Amino acid sequence: MSTSAPTGPHRPTTDSDTERWWAAVQNRELMVNACGSCGRTSLYVRPFCPHCWSDDIALRPASGRARLYTWSVVHQNGAPFDASTPYILAMVDLEEGPRLMTLIEQCSVEQLRADLPLVADFRTDDDGFVVPVFHPQPTEIH
Ligand SMILES: [Zn+2]
Repeated sequence: MSTSAPTGPHRPTTDSDTERWWAAVQNRELMVNACGSCGRTSLYVRPFCPHCWSDDIALRPASGRARLYTWSVVHQNGAPFDASTPYILAMVDLEEGPRLMTLIEQCSVEQLRADLPLVADFRTDDDGFVVPVFHPQPTEIH
């Protein structure tokens, strides 16, 4: 028991790179890893650019706009997760390019479709930990 474990049921494991990304999320800011050499962005957060291998890399705010790439409806999951089911686990393509695994909220399963325009939001869990979620752009839901 020598490793530092996440302190809650939904806690991501973090290292020094992803820690900065999660710290921004706690301030309700969604960031991408931006390369000063080739100009492309990436996620997850690494100390180098996966496109050109430059280490001229810095976190930059994302627009929060994204499109739905694929999704799965989770009806059950095992302990220690206690998330209320069902929920929508999704891969979304951020406007900046990176693909992010996240949750879709404020949306019924019937409303989901590939390429659905989404906007980022932040959900504060009971213990105060903030997680990024996405919901459809309001104009997309009729
Ligand atoms: Zn690069």
